[in-house]
Amino acid sequence: MLRVGVLAVQGDVREHINSLTSLNVAVQKVRNPEELKTINALVIPGGESTTISMLTKRVGLMDPLRKFVKDGFAVYGSCAGMIMLADEILDGRNDQETIGGLEITVRRNAFGRQVDSFETDLAVKDFDKSFRAIFIRAPWVERVGESVEVLAAVTTENGSQHPVMVRQGSVLATAFHPELTNDNRVHEYFVQMAKSVSAAN
Ligand code: GLN
Repeated sequence: MLRVGVLAVQGDVREHINSLTSLNVAVQKVRNPEELKTINALVIPGGESTTISMLTKRVGLMDPLRKFVKDGFAVYGSCAGMIMLADEILDGRNDQETIGGLEITVRRNAFGRQVDSFETDLAVKDFDKSFRAIFIRAPWVERVGESVEVLAAVTTENGSQHPVMVRQGSVLATAFHPELTNDNRVHEYFVQMAKSVSAAN
């Protein structure tokens, strides 16, 4: 049985719980290493990655989460959650640590102040209709490793393309916030992915 945890140290935890609950999976908060032991898939919410990083360390979850990812459990991070999963950050705080495991370089707050927050209709690989994506002080991906699949990208005003939804094996990340919409397709994609991963484990 799939039991999905939501890392609950800071950020939009409740919104992810709501999106997951409507998909008929067991959902619970993860606030400490004990609670991590009871789940087999994890969502890392949007919020502030420097704070999430600091609090994750403080509650003793940083190393257990690194192991969770390495062990091949399904993990999905949105926005700050994407930053937490990235192997490398640009424009991070000097002491900002990540869980890592996703072979990407992300730039924090990449879209700049003028376009702090915006919505756009995003073409997502394998989705039949576009996804209305909400970006809030979002990162973008500047480099992807060989085994990372780009599922969606945005084109900026100067024509450069940046991935905003990527997957590497059991790890999924979006620079946007599907948890803030009623469109559940990204969470559904993650749940399907988690089911096939846990079947393989
Ligand atoms: N800018 C935030 C950070 O660096 C992310 C914003 C978000 O999650 N909406 O963590």
